[in-house]
Amino acid sequence: MTKQTVVTDSPAEAAEFLNRGGLVAFPTETVYGLGADVFNHGSVGGIFTAKGRPSDNPLIVHLRSPEQIGEVASGLNAHAEALIGRFFPGPLTVVLSKNRSVPEIVSAGLPTVGVRCPSHPVAAEFLKHCRHPVAAPSANLSGRPSPTDWKAVFHDLGGRIDCLLRGEPSTIGLESTIVDCTVDPPLLLRSGAIGLELLREVVPELQVATSCKPGEAPKSPGMKYRHYSPEASVVLVEAPPHAIPTAPPSAWIGLSGPPEGVFRSMVCRSPEEYARILFGFFRACDAEGIGTIWCELPPEEGIGRAIRDRLFKAAGK
Ligand code: AMP
Ligand code: MG
Repeated sequence: MTKQTVVTDSPAEAAEFLNRGGLVAFPTETVYGLGADVFNHGSVGGIFTAKGRPSDNPLIVHLRSPEQIGEVASGLNAHAEALIGRFFPGPLTVVLSKNRSVPEIVSAGLPTVGVRCPSHPVAAEFLKHCRHPVAAPSANLSGRPSPTDWKAVFHDLGGRIDCLLRGEPSTIGLESTIVDCTVDPPLLLRSGAIGLELLREVVPELQVATSCKPGEAPKSPGMKYRHYSPEASVVLVEAPPHAIPTAPPSAWIGLSGPPEGVFRSMVCRSPEEYARILFGFFRACDAEGIGTIWCELPPEEGIGRAIRDRLFKAAGK
């Protein structure tokens, strides 16, 4: 299924593709998304085909403003109102009760729907030109690291989607924080740039979902899949070793180091920089044929919790 993928800088042109039923990748502050009109069954189905995504993994619905929530969800409680009031627009997804008008394929059959309102100016402009809310997972092939720049999207999905809206690299670099507001107390399903400490300023009783054990039903469908994986094997360490073996060629990323013997290294000045760079670094290592990527685990606070989560997933833990 080779398509001609039009690369454009125009949010209005990209939205035209989407309004006509096309698949459009677009930049957001977290990672690039692959969007379809939420009410167009066939187009949403195309997302799963283009990505090779399992159909029991739901999509996040992207809105131009909180006023659009009523088109896809209803019955907001006080927790949801408070989180939306504080963090929209921004890198937070809230899970709400789904309206019947939203096709089952969007929510993977769940009675709930995740909604987010990106703060990225190009995404906001694009969503303004889209007739309806936009269902979108990350714009990578399933199982690969999420794309944080347009070239990574083109690498994975060029020829498989109708349009790529080109923008600057994502400033956060990790997927959104997800909070399920349909349960009491609300549940943190995925950590992201908005950290637990900040969320608890708004919802002190917020609980953290534990990742599922084999055979157990996942709290969030996304939890059961290995994600964000480079082809290289990933080794996690709490602190840099003095030296590492030079064969196979290895890479290092962390807040300190690098150890002796690495072929490529990235020492980040802050956890925020670590988050922004991580997925692009994985992809660069794969392009260079790196065998092992050594990653230093950052402290478990703020965005550090999200980095640790993605590192554990990349290592297949
Ligand atoms: P992605 O941003 O590519 O990771 O895809 C969206 C992710 O959001 C999924 O993998 C799920 O983990 C999560 N998600 C979306 N909708 C829901 C929902 N209704 N309930 C729980 N998790 C959801
Ligand atoms: Mg994804």
